[in-house]
Amino acid sequence: VSGLIGYCRAGFEKELAAEIDDIAAEAGLIGYVRAQPDTGYAVYETFEPVALSSLAGAADWRRPVFARQLLPWFARVEGLPERDRATPIVAAVKASGQRFSGVVAETPDTDVAKQQSGFCRRFAEPLSRELEKAGALRTSRTGLPILHVLFTDAATAWLAAGMPGQAAPWPMGVPRLRMPSNAPSRSTLKLAEAFTTLLSDEERDTLVRAGQRAVDLGAAPGGWTWQLVHRGLRVTAIDNGPLRDSVMATEMVEHIRADGFTWRPPRPVDWMVCDMVEQPSRIASLMAEWIATSKCRHTIFNLKLPMKRRLDAVEQCRTLIRKRLASVGPYELRIKHLYHDREEVTAYLTLKK
Ligand code: SAM
Repeated sequence: VSGLIGYCRAGFEKELAAEIDDIAAEAGLIGYVRAQPDTGYAVYETFEPVALSSLAGAADWRRPVFARQLLPWFARVEGLPERDRATPIVAAVKASGQRFSGVVAETPDTDVAKQQSGFCRRFAEPLSRELEKAGALRTSRTGLPILHVLFTDAATAWLAAGMPGQAAPWPMGVPRLRMPSNAPSRSTLKLAEAFTTLLSDEERDTLVRAGQRAVDLGAAPGGWTWQLVHRGLRVTAIDNGPLRDSVMATEMVEHIRADGFTWRPPRPVDWMVCDMVEQPSRIASLMAEWIATSKCRHTIFNLKLPMKRRLDAVEQCRTLIRKRLASVGPYELRIKHLYHDREEVTAYLTLKK
């Protein structure tokens, strides 16, 4: 058995399954997709076993909007005995003939599955030792994939390969971000996560720099503005509501009470971020407009999702942006359902150089 496995927020399995199905079809895989509601993952299983090397190309976690992680898997080990879960797992890894440079034991992000998290923490080290003994683990070889052992319940483990550069680098696909002290609201973490997830390390270093200018549309109470200020950017915050004193006290922020849909900056800025709660199509059009008319170079924005047909809503936004930018030039659009996103997704848009 083999295929692709993706992790998501519980409740978004259907959307993730549809995206994985498309990716598999495009990669020429033949099989079927499975997802149970509220399990936090979706699986594509090929009818015939496919070599990891052939699956790897399809498994770029950045592509599906609703995936926190996307991996090629090569074994599902069931009926694991409680006393010794390592032996059958090591046997399955050996049988695959694949070598790894590290091991992550994890669970889907659901309350039920996370009952195994304590076990996962204790298990990774003894499992690594056994794999080393079996010759399947070479921690010094950096080009090799990481072995992901996903426990969907106490007796079932999926074995998957995190390819360097292809897999999300965080356990469970969730970057750990510390809540900065004195930030005005937890939503500051969402923009921090967007910078971490939607940009590569190199892009973050070169594109987000102290001294730049930014606009925050729908800024109150100031969590996103604070995140930008924290990185040394000067911010024009647009909102009819008040910003927290701690944000204004930084003296890096100009607050303008105006409508975020009609206000435009007197001169172009480096970044525009937008967290206005509005119809996604209106937001997408506004973002494309700012980019098309060079009001900003980069933008990060939220798109609220409808209760039903969430993928269609995302697709509709993609289309609006494509149409507006068709005559402008090639662009980069990345959309992700972040850990801090609930009924919304977060996107990054810029023109390609
Ligand atoms: N990102 C903010 C933070 O981290 O603190 C939270 C933003 S909150 C979810 C949405 C904000 O958008 C509200 O403060 C609301 O006043 C503002 N808003 C909604 N429609 C707006 C509009 N047309 N123009 C300006 N602000 C708007």
